[in-house]
Amino acid sequence: MSQKVINIAIDGFSATGKSTLAKELAAKLGYRYIDSGAMYRGITYFAQKHGLVNGETIDLELLNHLDKISLEFHHNSKRGGSDLILNGENVEEHIRKLKVAKHVSAVAAISEIRKFLVHQQKMMAAQKGVVMDGRDIGTVVLPDAELKIFVTAREAVRTNRRFLELTSRGDKITKLEVEANLRQRDLLDTTREDSPLVMAEDAKLLDNSEMTREQQLELAMKWVAEKLS
Ligand code: C5P
Repeated sequence: MSQKVINIAIDGFSATGKSTLAKELAAKLGYRYIDSGAMYRGITYFAQKHGLVNGETIDLELLNHLDKISLEFHHNSKRGGSDLILNGENVEEHIRKLKVAKHVSAVAAISEIRKFLVHQQKMMAAQKGVVMDGRDIGTVVLPDAELKIFVTAREAVRTNRRFLELTSRGDKITKLEVEANLRQRDLLDTTREDSPLVMAEDAKLLDNSEMTREQQLELAMKWVAEKLS
């Protein structure tokens, strides 16, 4: 008998390790991993590159360019996971920088941008067998996902993890800057009008402050097994 194939939605605050968990689950299950945050970061990078970010303000002229933006994921065999390709250019390195993180939540608060990306994300998951992480996956993008996980961790733990990740990639930043960015993004993401970050009623809560990667994967795999049985 062929095994049931499900969709898994992973949401949570910034830098909680959602993507690590999502990637590992996808690899274990042979599912496709989709990093919805990378798509918001890609649009933000595009806006910066085209002079459409002025100080803290996003120039809504950006909306007239959406039909010229194509986003795809290409598997990266060296690193594992996938790279974001924006109009044919691999922009993975650029979109991970703090410079992009500083404006991404303002871009993600614009309803037209969300509509544009949510449509694509729904299409990507239509055949099932997808693990998608983000902020509105269990509530808006995949409300019918068979398994929903909401990930959280203490702020100091998240700041530390993201600081190490960014500095190891060569970003010259301080821990205070990282902390300020996480706070600012969490605030904007939870208070925006369109699809704010909230835990779906039927999501499982996973606080990984005191967990190793292996422990969080084991717990999530236990939930997957329950859904597949
Ligand atoms: O997941 P990541 O931290 O890369 O996401 C970057 C930003 O993109 C988030 O802070 C949030 O503003 C936005 N985002 C969103 N909805 C998603 C995924 C990301 O609004 N589904």
